[in-house]
Parts: sequence; structure tokens; C-alpha cells
Amino acid sequence: MAIRNILTYPEKSLLQPSDEVEIIDNEIRTLIDDMGETMFNAPGVGLAAPQVGINKRVIVYDIHAGNPDDDSLTHEFKALINPKIIETSGSIISEKEACLSVVDYSADVKRYETVVVKALDIDGNPIEFKAENILSVIMQHEIDHLDGILFINRISVLKRSLYKKKLAKELNSN
Ligand SMILES: [Zn+2]
Repeated sequence: MAIRNILTYPEKSLLQPSDEVEIIDNEIRTLIDDMGETMFNAPGVGLAAPQVGINKRVIVYDIHAGNPDDDSLTHEFKALINPKIIETSGSIISEKEACLSVVDYSADVKRYETVVVKALDIDGNPIEFKAENILSVIMQHEIDHLDGILFINRISVLKRSLYKKKLAKELNSN
């Protein structure tokens, strides 16, 4: 296992759609192991392959993220291959949503309260499950990454342009 470099906006691989995984081979399994380690090291609760420069439809997430009462200190994650949201309902505001690929910024984002996700597990078995609240937000955020969409694409044009100005300033001052 290895920690991979997390790319940040406006890196190109973050802004383009990713390809479906056709075969779950050693390359994909290594990618998943590395993504899990990279996510916990960051630390974060979810990570999508384009964030480490691989445009394949793979995400990982912290299985304890949705349970604030869960005081388990073990780092356990799950990987989803070719995940798809097949049903949505309700709406919530994801407060101060942030992303490992968007530095020094967070914003309130409107998200679905519940989503049903269909995917393959690491062994290639089809799975389907319902995600609510925090887990639902993680699913929407990570699956967006696979379509080249960042949470800053889901906020108002005004807020986004303020962020871009702030970023441009920071890049210029380095
Ligand atoms: Zn993200």
C-alpha cells in the first residue's frame, strides 16, 4: 500500500468524466488499497480515483463516517466500483461541505437526503443500498467526482467566482 498524491483544483483529471471499470484486476485492487490509505492519511471520509489522477469509476469511503456515535478507532473503508445513483429523495443542506481537492474552502451545498446506490464491490458482485444523511452526501460528492463535478460546481455562480478569485490570488502570491 502506498499513499498517493491528492490532486487539487483546477487539475485536469478532476474536471473530466471517468471511464467505467471493465475488469477488476490487480491494478484496480492496488488502486483501491492505496486510495483507502490516502483517504485516512489526509484525513478524509471519501475519495474518488480522479483525485489521485486516475480517471476510472472507483470511490472509497469511511464506513464509520455516517455514525457519529461510533467510537470505533479502526480505519475501515469500503470501495465501490462503477457506482451509480439510481433513486433520490428529500433534500438537505450539507453544511460546510469540503473536498480534499479544493483547498481552504467549504460551502453549504444542497443535496438529496436519501439516495439509492448501485455498484460493484471489490469482488465484482453487484450491490445496491440506501444511503441517508452524511453517507448520502458522501455518495453524491464522490460520484460527482467521477463525472468531473466538484462541490464548487453545485454552489451559486457568485460564490464560485469569489472562490476562483481567492484561489487566483493565492496562486499568484506563491
Ligand atoms: Zn471531493
